[in-house]
Amino acid sequence: MPHDLAATFNEHSVMTIMEADPLHKERPSPLTNAASGLTRVVICGGGAGGLPLAVMLQARAKRHRLSITLVDPSATHVWKPLLHEFASGSMDKGAHEIAYLALAAWRGFTFSQGPLTGIDREKRQVLIGPALDAGGLEMAPARRLPYDLLVVAVGGVTNDFGIPGVKENAFFLDSAPEAEKLHREIVRACMRANYDEARQRDRLDICIVGGGATGVELAAELRSTTRMLLAYGLDRLDPERFVRLTLINADPRLLLQLPEHISQSIGDILAGLDVRILNNTQVTAVEKETIVTRSGERIHSDITIWAAGVRAPHFLTDLAGLESGRGGQLTVTQTLQTTRDPRILALGDCAACPWLDKGGLVPPRAQASFQQAAYLTTAIPKLIAGEDASPFRYNDLGSLVSLGDAQAIGTLMGLARGTGIRIEGFLARLLYKWLYKRHQAALFGWWAVVLDTFGRWIGSATRPRVKLH
Ligand SMILES: Cc1cc2nc3c(=O)[nH]c(=O)nc-3n(C[C@H](O)[C@H](O)[C@H](O)COP(=O)(O)OP(=O)(O)OC[C@H]3O[C@@H](n4cnc5c(N)ncnc54)[C@H](O)[C@@H]3O)c2cc1C
Repeated sequence: MPHDLAATFNEHSVMTIMEADPLHKERPSPLTNAASGLTRVVICGGGAGGLPLAVMLQARAKRHRLSITLVDPSATHVWKPLLHEFASGSMDKGAHEIAYLALAAWRGFTFSQGPLTGIDREKRQVLIGPALDAGGLEMAPARRLPYDLLVVAVGGVTNDFGIPGVKENAFFLDSAPEAEKLHREIVRACMRANYDEARQRDRLDICIVGGGATGVELAAELRSTTRMLLAYGLDRLDPERFVRLTLINADPRLLLQLPEHISQSIGDILAGLDVRILNNTQVTAVEKETIVTRSGERIHSDITIWAAGVRAPHFLTDLAGLESGRGGQLTVTQTLQTTRDPRILALGDCAACPWLDKGGLVPPRAQASFQQAAYLTTAIPKLIAGEDASPFRYNDLGSLVSLGDAQAIGTLMGLARGTGIRIEGFLARLLYKWLYKRHQAALFGWWAVVLDTFGRWIGSATRPRVKLH
């Protein structure tokens, strides 16, 4: 059963609202703000789910009398699945970031920069921390933002499972600045090795911990871009041998969510790219330049990248008394409302949402966040009107893994219930790219995406294939 907002308000808060607000009787919904007649929807987190939600909901704002505010600590948005391409240098972040303020002005919603730090449920206010610029200087002070309905869409962070030394000695791929930092480190290490005659090093060890999609895609991408990087004039280094890539995986095989034969093919492709794969290898500590495994092996690593699982940001664990699950995600009902407060909803990687039909939880994927955003675009007006919203049903379209250059492989679901067909090569690569195009189309429309794609294709004639700085 969907969580009935109107019923909940009847039970708990309508009396208080009516006492405080004599206009209440004339109001169409207990969620509407008396002064403005608008329902103030605040969306915290402008990522793969939150940003399309803000844009799509804004398109219905006039009809449903909504005022939409998006909150994000960053001034610009990048689509998270591109991060491994920023890190490897095959894509330039600058060419793919979107300024929230500009998009908000074009689409008609409000943008407020700063991190969600807390929720005052009694006063129905979101606590926003100060907005900082890239250098850490304050641009806007901490403040409070009133809401009638709040959507938490702050995403997830990489899970270090509390393993000693990971935070201090490994790189993460949680944000664009982190991806860029990793890229700069790789370029710096190659440059130093090329010009530093004193050190005479002939190998750079890059170890990626995590045999899921992020680790696999990053390994493949790094192989092709480091080859290119070295070929662009670092003539003292051997492009084939200088960078040794190792993928360390605790599971018995790569990509457990994919069928075994596909995971086998992916392993073969990576082996062909000269990536060393260590399955069944559990990391117990990360030290400077060394990874320690459960068996006691010490693996040399100049650059360690941690890509081994997703959890919710720590501050969600005890956010305003809301219920959270094992990975810290906010527990939500089938209508994405949090279990203890139906005015607060959550979507994407930060939500523990039941997977109807299959059981378990909806997986942390961009396609799930997008589907939840599309669902809420129609469900929120219904919830505000006190109507029943049908439950959210995740439609698993399959999983595609990009393996650098022109390769991609994975499964496509939907032809037969519960089974997937294997897909690879150019078509798989095209479908992989389509996920991003669809995200862009939700923000700008399909015509803008076609023109943008064409423009990028022309621009590629004057750009190197790998970012060199
Ligand atoms: C390298 C990589 C590759 C991936 N590839 C794929 C793929 O191929 N296919 C796929 O389906 N999925 C992929 N994923 C997973 C996918 O990126 C996530 O599942 C998806 O982005 C989650 O969407 P979201 O809206 O929940 O969060 P995000 O997209 O992570 O967005 C969260 C937003 O919240 C903001 N935020 C953070 N903290 C706060 C705060 N305190 N207050 C307010 N805002 C905050 C962030 O700045 C960000 O804008 C990949 C992930 C990574 C890291």
